[in-house]
Amino acid sequence: MENITAIAQMLSEEIQRELTTEYTLTDIEQVGRRLVQEIGRQAIAEVVNAEENGYPETALCPHCEKEMRYVRRRSAQLRTLFGCMEVKRAYYLCPECRQGCCPVDQRLGLRPNAISAELERLAAMTGTLLPFGKGRDLFETLTLVSLSDQTVDKATQAYGATVMRREQEWQVVAHNQDELQRRKRDVQKPLRLYGAIDATKVHTRGDDDHPWRDLKVGAWFEARGQPPKSPDGEWCIQAENISYFADISPASEFGSLMWATGVHHHAQLARELVILGDGAEWIWKLVAKHFPRAVQILDWFHATEYLMPAAKVAFPTQQAQNEWVAQAKQALWDGMINELITACLGLVRTEDSSDPAFVAARYFDQNRHRMNYPTYRRQGYQIGSGTIESAAKQIGTMRMKVAGAIWNENSARKVAKARAAYLSNEWDALAAYRALSLAT
Ligand SMILES: [Zn+2]
Repeated sequence: MENITAIAQMLSEEIQRELTTEYTLTDIEQVGRRLVQEIGRQAIAEVVNAEENGYPETALCPHCEKEMRYVRRRSAQLRTLFGCMEVKRAYYLCPECRQGCCPVDQRLGLRPNAISAELERLAAMTGTLLPFGKGRDLFETLTLVSLSDQTVDKATQAYGATVMRREQEWQVVAHNQDELQRRKRDVQKPLRLYGAIDATKVHTRGDDDHPWRDLKVGAWFEARGQPPKSPDGEWCIQAENISYFADISPASEFGSLMWATGVHHHAQLARELVILGDGAEWIWKLVAKHFPRAVQILDWFHATEYLMPAAKVAFPTQQAQNEWVAQAKQALWDGMINELITACLGLVRTEDSSDPAFVAARYFDQNRHRMNYPTYRRQGYQIGSGTIESAAKQIGTMRMKVAGAIWNENSARKVAKARAAYLSNEWDALAAYRALSLAT
């Protein structure tokens, strides 16, 4: 602590020297931060250089394990959170396989002439939150380190690629029958777990006829709170331990991802598994295939969205429309699906199968076994997937659909996956996993 006090004293003198006659706290902060950054930069370079003081020790070749011969100190540029710095490391050559290396790079995780792992972690986090250009500007303002858009982009995609690697490992586990049996015996089974799936669109380049791709988003979560007593009551649902997954892929591939992430969360072992989704057929096919025991629930909010368009065509005044919708909602709430369908069919005005009243009737008919809301409420199940709706918005709309954004499909996948991990509060765990997977 004494040292720190002495350094602070010296720093304060240095700050005072740099300030002009008139200044405010802002000037003091800015000068102070710049100097601290520079002190940190020099100190870190010192620490790295001090790693191999004195005559270098012998080292074994990482490729053939023969003893390597010290050649000389080699310099490299490191790009760290404190800025760029030049360091020198002992360089060795293997007499056997003729390959050379600096063992300290491996030991400290140095990345010569590239950004450090810590800088990458923060740059990638920025890139998952903001478009790369804006992210770069904010990053520089906050850290005093300037990066290019491309560096932020690359770091973000590297994290997305790490999510993919982790998913591949989960896929292997999820198809290992011995491991699945072991978990069935040993694992504490979740009492009630929820799943939800939804999709949104992302604009991609390449195929001009079909520039919009489906970004599919899923989540596993637990939930507290009850649906309200009436359809217009207050919804205070708290989802907890939410874990998102996302991909731009055909439904069957997304189904494998759903299975792999589900196994990771022991969904297949849950005493009660409840899955919420909209009416999209692909969703329910996947659920039936991978989690046949799950209770399927048609998301309440998606279901009610079909009512107003039907009323609008049939009734001229808003009051009449609202009244009809309120009655229909109550029927839906009470599980009176036949009455609801009859009411919708009563509004059909055209022969056209796209008549909104007919569309609503068909939708309710096709999903009737997922609309037993009174039973679900009695069981205490959540019937609205606000969680996943907002995930599709947060992953898709807020980051991927920013004005003018046209994505390369592969980049879009990685950014979406990185963002899903970030929103699942997994960023630091992902960074640790990435460091480990790069080291091996
Ligand atoms: Zn060798």
